Amino acid sequence: MFKPVSSNENFPEMEKKWLEHWYKSGIDKKYREKNKDSKKYFSFLDGPITANNPMGVHHAWGRTYKDLWPRFYNLLGFKQRFQNGFDCQGLWVEVEVEKELGLHTKKDIENLVPGDSKASIAKFVQLCKDRVSKFSKIQTEQSKRLGYFADWDHSYFTMSDENNYMIWNFLKKCYDHGWIYKGHESVPWCPRCETAISQHEMLTEDYKELVHESVYLELPIVGRKNEYLLVWTTTPWTIPANIAVTVHKDYKYSLVEKTIGDLFWVAKDLIASVFGKDYKRIIKTVKGEELVGLKYDSSFDDIPAVKKVKEENPDKFHTVIATDEMILPISLTEGTGMVHTAVSAGVEDFKLGKKYGLPMIPVIEDNADYRSDMGFLAGKNAKKHPEIILNYLRKKDVVFKTHHYKHRYPACWRCKTELVWKVEDEWYIAMDQPSKTRNLTLRQRMIKVAKLIRWMPEFGLDRELDWLKNMHDWLISKKNRYWGLALPIYECGGDGGCGGFEVIGSKKELKKRAISGWKEFKGHSPHKPFIDEVKIKCQKCGKIVSRLNDVGNPWLDAGIVAYSTIAKDNQGQPLYLKDKKEWKNWFPADFITESFPGQFKNWFYALIAMSTVMENEPPFKRVLGFATQLGEDGRPMHKSWGNAIEFNEGADKIGVDVMRWMFSRHNPADNMLFGYKRADEVRRQFYLMLWNVYKFFVEYANLDQWLPVRKRNFYHTRVSPLRGPLESEKIANSSPVNKNILDKWILSRFTSLVISVEKNLKEFSAKDATLEIEKFVSDLSTWFIRRSRDRIWVNSDDRKDKDNFYSTLYYVLVNLSIVISPFIPFVAEEIYTNLTGNESVNLESWPSFAKASEGKPKINKKLEQEMEIARKVVMAGQTERKVVGVKIRIPLANLKVKTELTDNLKSISNQVWNIVLKELNIKNITINNSFHYPEKEVRITKKQLGKEGRLRELIRQIQTERKSKGLKLDDRINLTIPLEFEKEKDFIAKRVLAKKISFGDKVVIQ
Ligand SMILES: [Zn+2]
Ligand SMILES: [Zn+2]
Repeated sequence: MFKPVSSNENFPEMEKKWLEHWYKSGIDKKYREKNKDSKKYFSFLDGPITANNPMGVHHAWGRTYKDLWPRFYNLLGFKQRFQNGFDCQGLWVEVEVEKELGLHTKKDIENLVPGDSKASIAKFVQLCKDRVSKFSKIQTEQSKRLGYFADWDHSYFTMSDENNYMIWNFLKKCYDHGWIYKGHESVPWCPRCETAISQHEMLTEDYKELVHESVYLELPIVGRKNEYLLVWTTTPWTIPANIAVTVHKDYKYSLVEKTIGDLFWVAKDLIASVFGKDYKRIIKTVKGEELVGLKYDSSFDDIPAVKKVKEENPDKFHTVIATDEMILPISLTEGTGMVHTAVSAGVEDFKLGKKYGLPMIPVIEDNADYRSDMGFLAGKNAKKHPEIILNYLRKKDVVFKTHHYKHRYPACWRCKTELVWKVEDEWYIAMDQPSKTRNLTLRQRMIKVAKLIRWMPEFGLDRELDWLKNMHDWLISKKNRYWGLALPIYECGGDGGCGGFEVIGSKKELKKRAISGWKEFKGHSPHKPFIDEVKIKCQKCGKIVSRLNDVGNPWLDAGIVAYSTIAKDNQGQPLYLKDKKEWKNWFPADFITESFPGQFKNWFYALIAMSTVMENEPPFKRVLGFATQLGEDGRPMHKSWGNAIEFNEGADKIGVDVMRWMFSRHNPADNMLFGYKRADEVRRQFYLMLWNVYKFFVEYANLDQWLPVRKRNFYHTRVSPLRGPLESEKIANSSPVNKNILDKWILSRFTSLVISVEKNLKEFSAKDATLEIEKFVSDLSTWFIRRSRDRIWVNSDDRKDKDNFYSTLYYVLVNLSIVISPFIPFVAEEIYTNLTGNESVNLESWPSFAKASEGKPKINKKLEQEMEIARKVVMAGQTERKVVGVKIRIPLANLKVKTELTDNLKSISNQVWNIVLKELNIKNITINNSFHYPEKEVRITKKQLGKEGRLRELIRQIQTERKSKGLKLDDRINLTIPLEFEKEKDFIAKRVLAKKISFGDKVVIQ
């Protein structure tokens, strides 16, 4: 007997039962070691999850893919690494630790141990490590709960020594190419984190819709009376940094007299939007180039820092300049067509300034306080108190007007503080510098490498190329931060320094070069503060040099993992350094998968950049990108909106099988709406249907006392070995051989399914594979089983046909459990183990139909097509019955069906037509008045039909009452029925399991 199947199974509980079993009895380990001697490699490279918080359900989407394909390739017999990764270093962790400790500034961190900044930093860094360790454990448990099989004891951590030193290796190679440089530029800056935000980190989702008070500012032209340039800015805090006003040399500008008599220059096209009708007349209109060279005054000219720049650069100060459209396009839809240009406080401004050799006025400190040489502004915060500027300008009477302006403004991706722009010394990797050794620039090389990758969806390549073609140099330094890669740059700067710099490429090299501090560093990870104990000697001038105070851009950490994390048994020295030949077996990775938005600039970019520098090869062959998960209401998931789902809660309410199925069946290119309602649909429409098929099989096989051959243990004598490809068995792996058309059909369908799922999964389309499986399960339930009900239990005496039915369904279910196991491993395990008694579906092999000689089902396409047409005819027939209003229970002599079906009805075999007749409960069918089946009409009297209908109705009534009395399928009853059915007494007794039948007016069941 098979273990009985519950009709109200608690699926999340079932999942937990299996989890416990898998990890207790080492199934996970056996799964990972199953193909360890295989010569076939499947290399999946994990994009590390940030170990900073518990998982949300959105993480489960990608992690389902990360488990699905390894499971599939494990079934196919490929050797794999099964390595998960955690991203550890960077601002995200720092910010959370700061929050926990209630710290607000850099000073707070450096005073964690009062008065001892080194001990403070050591403590802070340790707390960051602890946080990573804590959440990596939580995420590991959550991933296990998802059914994700990986080598959880040997996940990689980007904070590991191996990872950090491999980045050093990379940076050294960049240095050797001549691609590392120190730039002095205007960079986006977070005043709270007090650090630069690289262009890579400025994601569209980090722009906030903000309202700022924008100002139209009057700038009096030197030497002209009552004549002003009118400029517009949304960032008034930058006005003291103003150096120039930029115009377009070809645009038309008009001098407009306002009612009060003052004259203003604005772009002609913007007169209406600036003045409305509130002006007297247009005095003249000229081309922008005629304004170039005009000088003007500003209200901040007395501030010491401004004064100084003015005195040092009288020619280039407060002048009208013409724009370079490639750097700063000028809008004619908003503003005034004259652009306030603050070289120190904007990226375009800075570039334009560089092009024209304009001076700049640094105005803010790291925390956005105005600098000490900013006169009355000194010490006041530029972002927090914009009113200081506006009030001052109003007092000076140079504000033309102000209005509230709503725009998308970038915020810090980590702490959500509005960014500012600030000129800083930062370190970069040059994109357009030809290499010292070979000609190509990094940008050119990366574009070549990106094109070697298969991008899914295909638009991925264009998105990546778009970024690669337009991005600036890679800003790799982070000032004022603590928890991150120790950038191995040693600059010989300051007093007496020669100005050169070196990059150290390994721990060994550092040790060799160290002239002091090695003892203090030894035994510590290469992080602040201990790494900074080590000093080296400048090779050029002999000065003692310290490491740069900066840490690295966090995307360096995740970008190097194709080199740093591939190790024997996922432990110890990277194979890249130790055994490059074996490393090559895993590189490039066959497959990576991550959410698309954002990663073009980040992980994909970093992987490609770093691999291009290391080996000039793509780090992965194929990327499956997926979109964004939203709540079922179509809005982004937010705790405060009540549509966010925490992973554990989702897993316990939905069950992870259903969750995984939802992810698998979704088109990854589209955003996904996720929530409990949708989960319920999937559960009902697929999961429960599958479960009910399985339950049906177990229930009736038990009633009929049917067992698969090997359990009955007499396979020597029988010809129908009934099993899936269970390798532990020495018996031929063949499917049942029989004549029933339904069996033939479902076996053919199943074979087609397995081949198609395999093909789709090899093309990394989970969606197509799952939809095929759904269709198959629906066919299995609503056609194969439905049409086979009279072949089993008390409905049939044909022992051989019964056996064929069970053998067929058994074969299909066992193999189906293997096929679905990569998607929904829990229910697959439940079905598989109960049916086979074997250890685990996780240790199985993919069903193979390679050798037809083994008697495996062959595909019968013609039969599949016939059945498809037949089912369309049935549907048309059911519609017809509804139209004429006759229930399916009442037999009809002939049903006339009209249909637009153009398929060849004559190609359908008699056996299939007989199924149609039975399903429609008719004796004859006529289609479109021209086609008849059977050719020779079956004649039946009205009386006979009436009797047949009543008999059906009676049996149905008895079955319903049996059910409502709570009788089991094999409970026997005493029955009273109308005398009319005396002749059919034995038939009825058999069908409804009656011990004794008597006759009376009413139907009575006891
Ligand atoms: Zn920030
Ligand atoms: Zn030097």
